[in-house]
Amino acid sequence: MADAFENIFGQPRVRDFLRASVRGGHVSQAYLFCGPAGSNKTAAAYALAQAYLCPKGAKGPRGGLCGACDACSRIARRKHPDVRYYAPEGAGGYLVEQIREIVSDVSYAPIQAKSKVYILDRVDMLGTAAANAFLKTLEEPPANVMIVLLGRTRESVLPTIVSRCQVVPFRHIPATEAAGIIRQNTGASIETARIAIEACSGSITRACEFLKSNDSLAFRRGVVDAMSRLATADDWDIIELAAGLVRAAKAPLDDVRAALEAELSENADFLAKSVIRQIEARNKRQITAKTSQALHQVFSIASSWLRDVMATCAGTPEFIVNVDVKAQIEMAAARTDEARAAAALAALRESDEAISYNVSPETCIDAMLFEVREVLYGSSRAH
Ligand SMILES: [Zn+2]
Repeated sequence: MADAFENIFGQPRVRDFLRASVRGGHVSQAYLFCGPAGSNKTAAAYALAQAYLCPKGAKGPRGGLCGACDACSRIARRKHPDVRYYAPEGAGGYLVEQIREIVSDVSYAPIQAKSKVYILDRVDMLGTAAANAFLKTLEEPPANVMIVLLGRTRESVLPTIVSRCQVVPFRHIPATEAAGIIRQNTGASIETARIAIEACSGSITRACEFLKSNDSLAFRRGVVDAMSRLATADDWDIIELAAGLVRAAKAPLDDVRAALEAELSENADFLAKSVIRQIEARNKRQITAKTSQALHQVFSIASSWLRDVMATCAGTPEFIVNVDVKAQIEMAAARTDEARAAAALAALRESDEAISYNVSPETCIDAMLFEVREVLYGSSRAH
């Protein structure tokens, strides 16, 4: 029977391990999930949160692995107030101040459930000072708190953190297998699945959501069209293209913001002022995280397009992923060469890494388009 853990695609050993821990009643209070981007760590963390917070508990009919009640569905929609997700807020990683906030938050009582789950992404970006502020909490969390840390590799996480956690290794999921999983779950063709997976930086879970949303597909089309137009775009064209992309990237955030505000005002009568302030702060962080996610998506789609141009220049067009815009990719390839495409890709990767949460989306998309045009077509650009 399907349960919360079924959604941990491509990681059968992780799924079996977590399921057995929950069924056997020996869950740990501190986990470290280690694996490359796109290995489904976040989905696994939310599945574990469902199993841990579900009011049906481990004594339920399916060993607590419900996945269907109100609490479980809130967690799946990432709307449960007792499941907190954090990512580094500083450009260089977690800020000590951010960790102090989390530590103090841990001591508050849960809002809706009997327990709380803290998910900290990218703990490979947890420096010594921030880690030190966290060690005591990680070692002895309150009895009703579970902490799930996500990191790229075991070696990239500070040993003081690793030694206090149950480490769960995640395997790299090969692209062809990932596309197969997406096809199974969405009915999309393998070609479309590959486009989605590249647009979502390899995340299977996000690629599935992406394919279910017409807005996302239109957004992706907007980015590849903008990339295709760079060859003949003048400065004003680029400013307009960037503005269009920013509008498209921000549009879904308005819905998110409205939904969060509606949910808060619905519950406002029942909640203490301090709790409302907490939720408001969390909502604000969620919007910030979503904005940066949308920006990264622009970069992922642009990178995918550039890799296709590079493959075409290299005489291996069979590797093109964005097959629906093959003609535009060939036109771009005819105006540049493999080395310049590789340089543009490298430049793009650098500016993607430089996206700090405080940079304005307008500026960074603008700069990215100007830079790619310059590197790809340079002075040979047509006017
Ligand atoms: Zn449930």
